Amino acid sequence: MTQTQNDSQQNPAKAGVRTYTGGCHCGAVRYEATVNLADVSRCNCTFCTKYGDGGSTSMKPEAFRLLKGQEDVTQYARKGSPNSRSFCKHCGVMCFGAGDVPELGGAFRSIHIGTLDDVDPSLLTYQYWDGRHDNWMAGSRSSPWPFQATVS
Ligand SMILES: [Zn+2]
Repeated sequence: MTQTQNDSQQNPAKAGVRTYTGGCHCGAVRYEATVNLADVSRCNCTFCTKYGDGGSTSMKPEAFRLLKGQEDVTQYARKGSPNSRSFCKHCGVMCFGAGDVPELGGAFRSIHIGTLDDVDPSLLTYQYWDGRHDNWMAGSRSSPWPFQATVS
């Protein structure tokens, strides 16, 4: 085996687009998502800050499939927001979210990196979004954004 093959097997950031499975802690909720883990991010929004954002990645809705647990999830969304997060009713783990941010291409699903099977989150490189200020047009960057707005 060459070093390159070994890297892509060991390092999910180098594996390209792949279909992964994941789920909550107790096993009630299971999903499948086709994503590229070279593209993972964290966010400074008020929700992500309180939850302790371990990183996420987004995909078009059709690249996500709930395998199990439709009845076992409960959703949370800030009043008036089109973006929601889904939690297992039993163990409380947030596995995925859904939303619609026109600046980012419209409807999407997202998954919480820590809920993926057999993926070591420490091997990934995170980009940071300024979600706290809905500053999506600024794009993501390699260091966290401050709580104080950097745009007027
Ligand atoms: Zn659970």
